[in-house]
Amino acid sequence: MQIAHTKEELRAMLAPLRGKRMVLVPTMGALHEGHATLLRQARELAGAEGSVVASVFLNPVQFDNAGDLATYPKTPEQDMETCASCGVDVVFMPTPDVMYMADRSITLEETHLSTVLCGASRPGHFAGVCLVVNKLFNLVQPTDAVFGKKDYQQLAILRRMVRDLDIPITLHGAEIVRGEDGLALSSRNVRLTPEHRSAAPAIRASLLTASAAYRAGDSASAICAQVRCTLESIPGVHCDYVELVDAETLHEVAEPDRLALLAVAAWFGDVRLIDNIELSRA
Ligand code: AMP
Repeated sequence: MQIAHTKEELRAMLAPLRGKRMVLVPTMGALHEGHATLLRQARELAGAEGSVVASVFLNPVQFDNAGDLATYPKTPEQDMETCASCGVDVVFMPTPDVMYMADRSITLEETHLSTVLCGASRPGHFAGVCLVVNKLFNLVQPTDAVFGKKDYQQLAILRRMVRDLDIPITLHGAEIVRGEDGLALSSRNVRLTPEHRSAAPAIRASLLTASAAYRAGDSASAICAQVRCTLESIPGVHCDYVELVDAETLHEVAEPDRLALLAVAAWFGDVRLIDNIELSRA
C-alpha cells in the first residue's frame, strides 16, 4: 500500500494503475468497521486487476460547527492499518492547505435535496461535501466510488451531482453497518458519555418500531412524533429532526407505493447522531 500526501505524489502513484477499474472510498478518518466494510466492498468491485483508493481527509469546508471539527477524532496510524488490511492500494492523506488554495473562490451548491434534513440545520455542509468530493473525483479520476447509506442524504446529493454534471463515475451505496446493539457505527460515537452510549441504541429500536407502524398504515406525523417522544424521554437528548420523506426526492412522501425514508438526527449531549431506515408499505 502506498500513501500520498500531495497531489503530485497521488498522480504519480495512480499513473500505473490507470486503464483498469479504480474504486474510490472517500473518508474523514477515525476509521471503524463501517468504513472497513466500504473498503472491502471497493476491493471486491475492483477485483484483482483493478485498484482501490481511499482518501483520509478531515474536510474543514464541510463543518458548520468549529467545535465539531476541533473535537473530531483523529487516528491516522490506525487508519493506515485498516486501509492496508482491507486491501487498499493507495491512500490519499492531504492536509487542508494541500487540498485548498487560500484564495479559492468556487463553490458547488446543490439546491433542492440540500434544503431539507441535515441541509436545513447544517448550512453550507453539503456544498462543502460536493466541493471536496468533486475535487477528489478530479484528482483520482476513479471509475467507481462507494458511499454509505448512513449518510443517506449525502449519497442522494452526490448521485444528483454526478447526474447533473455528467461525471463519468458509477456510485455505489453501501448498507449501514451497526454495532451488535444496533447503534450505527460512527466516528463520533467515541465522544458519547457512557450513559448516552448505552442509551443510543434506542435510535435503531425506535426506527424499527416505526417501520412496523408504517406497514400497519400509521400516518407520517404519528410515526415521527412517536420516534421523537421515545428519544426525547432520554435525559440530555434532543431531536434535531425526525422526518418521513420520499427516499429519492427527500421531500414529502406523496405516493404510498414509493420507497420512503425515515431519517433522524438527534443530539446526545453535544454529540449529534444520525440514522435512517427505508420504509415500504409492502
Ligand atoms: P465519514 O468518514 O464519516 O465521512 O464516512 C466516510 C464514508 O463511510 C461515507 O460514505 C459514510 O456514509 C460511510 N460510513 C460511515 N459510517 C458508516 C456506517 N456505519 N455504515 C456504512 N457506511 C458508513
